[in-house]
Amino acid sequence: MTIFSKIAAGEIPSYKCAESDKFYAFLDINPVGKAHTLVIPRREVDYIFDMEDDELAEFQVFAKKVARAIRTAFPCRKVAQIVLGLEVDHAHIHLVPINSEADVDFHKHVKVSDDEQKEIAAKILTAFQSL
Ligand code: 5GP
Repeated sequence: MTIFSKIAAGEIPSYKCAESDKFYAFLDINPVGKAHTLVIPRREVDYIFDMEDDELAEFQVFAKKVARAIRTAFPCRKVAQIVLGLEVDHAHIHLVPINSEADVDFHKHVKVSDDEQKEIAAKILTAFQSL
């Protein structure tokens, strides 16, 4: 089981932002900015481009809804979508609210307290559930 599967199963705690039967979204533990969210398929697959067409399409549509919820909760110019996958071998999309290109620098991280992470996730989840 990957660490992200354990998170989606609730075996490892996370700040939940959205979920469905197939996908799960939660705050990144080492965010590049506030509301930096990860979206994953519950099914274990390492490389995003190994996903079947139908699953990938559904995954992208789910991520789109999460991005909309993030933008509702945290108004920003756009929500950036980034796929790296070099650290955790479980497909995931990074969603980061941005106002400029400098807001997606993976060499810079922000400190967000646990209380604030909790608040951020709750806002995104509420927005997601109201879509
Ligand atoms: P990537 O695989 O796309 O290079 O990066 C993996 C991302 O997952 C990183 O941004 C890292 O901070 C995040 N991450 C790694 N382990 C955990 C974890 O246990 N919990 C959470 N919430 N995020 C994690």
